[in-house]
Amino acid sequence: MARKQHFNTVAIHAGQEFDPTTGAVIPPIYQSSTFVQKSIGELRGGYEYSRGGNPTRDSLQTLLAALEGGKHGLSFASGLAAEDTLLRAALSPGDHIVMGNDVYGGTHRLIERVHGPWGIRNTVVDMSDLRAVEKAIIAGETKMLWIETPSNPLMKISDIAELAEIGHRAGLIVVVDNTFASPALQRPLLHGADVVVHSTTKYLGGHSDVLGGALIINDDALAEKALFLQFAAGPVSAPLDAWLTIRGIKTLAVRMERHSSNAQAIAEHLDGHPALEAVYYPGLPDHPGHALAKQQMSGFGGMLSLAFVGGAKAARKFAEKTKLFQLAESLGGVESLVNYPSEMTHASVRGTVLEVPDNIVRLSVGIEDVTDLIADLDRAMPKKK
Ligand SMILES: *Cc1c(COP(=O)(O)O)cnc(C)c1O
Repeated sequence: MARKQHFNTVAIHAGQEFDPTTGAVIPPIYQSSTFVQKSIGELRGGYEYSRGGNPTRDSLQTLLAALEGGKHGLSFASGLAAEDTLLRAALSPGDHIVMGNDVYGGTHRLIERVHGPWGIRNTVVDMSDLRAVEKAIIAGETKMLWIETPSNPLMKISDIAELAEIGHRAGLIVVVDNTFASPALQRPLLHGADVVVHSTTKYLGGHSDVLGGALIINDDALAEKALFLQFAAGPVSAPLDAWLTIRGIKTLAVRMERHSSNAQAIAEHLDGHPALEAVYYPGLPDHPGHALAKQQMSGFGGMLSLAFVGGAKAARKFAEKTKLFQLAESLGGVESLVNYPSEMTHASVRGTVLEVPDNIVRLSVGIEDVTDLIADLDRAMPKKK
């Protein structure tokens, strides 16, 4: 077993040993809140109470760490629960965060409106402008750099290695939200990041049937703090949720291949359409982040956005007209979804620097047959007058 395994093998086997008592190929769901002790304080497998530790959650946590090539994996009830735990583990009142101007709206809301009143300040910058990032760092006060790439919904690409270097020069913890790419396409720790955050609700779970979040941390001391908070505050993933996420991860690599090829075909089909101002997809050669994405990622993913010439009216009409692309928040499932960010996923950032233009429609391209998907989009497109 000394030979290092490849991603597709790791995704199916890491932390997934068969059940030694029955031989069950799939480890059972340990749907138990507590564990019988042999004598007072003498535990049978190290398990005591499921907030502190549960075998199904452990199995997922081992898998998460292996997928990202990291040391410690922690799983949570949601992506935001994971983020909240990280922020509280790493920061103290008076600390300052620099984050991208297109981070997930809920991340901005959490940092600004929940952690803000507890004394955490933030500055929002364009992460593709390295000078601006350097300028936003306040010596002695900034403690964290928060990167999301590709970003949501405009699919901007930031250079993880360069940003990690800038962050480390100033002694910051460099965090990458890797939800959009998934570790099948991008592994930020290998580019120098310190922490990876996921909403496993999206591609890792992959079937729109479970909420979850993850942290993957290399530093032992930070991981210990986060583990303590996971136990002491209790934002843990439930056993069934952890199991569903494991089940999803087994097909992650093949799903991401199909998500990427479908999205590429759709982007190429719609690029240059007279009803569209722009198609935002890093797989298109004229996308400003194309070359960087090519070097930093092993595929361009399943997310793309469209900007309509006809403004908000055209965008809204389109989003309500597709059929296979169902109108819903979220992303990353096998089924295609359409979203109108300015009033749905990004409603919470209206009126802030993170506001999304109102002529944008975001697509989460599923793994259905691409000809059916294209037919659905064509049918919903504004007709020439
Ligand atoms: C959905 C999402 C989150 C939040 O995760 P939840 O599981 O909804 O709490 C964070 N970051 C990104 C990029 C997301 O898409």
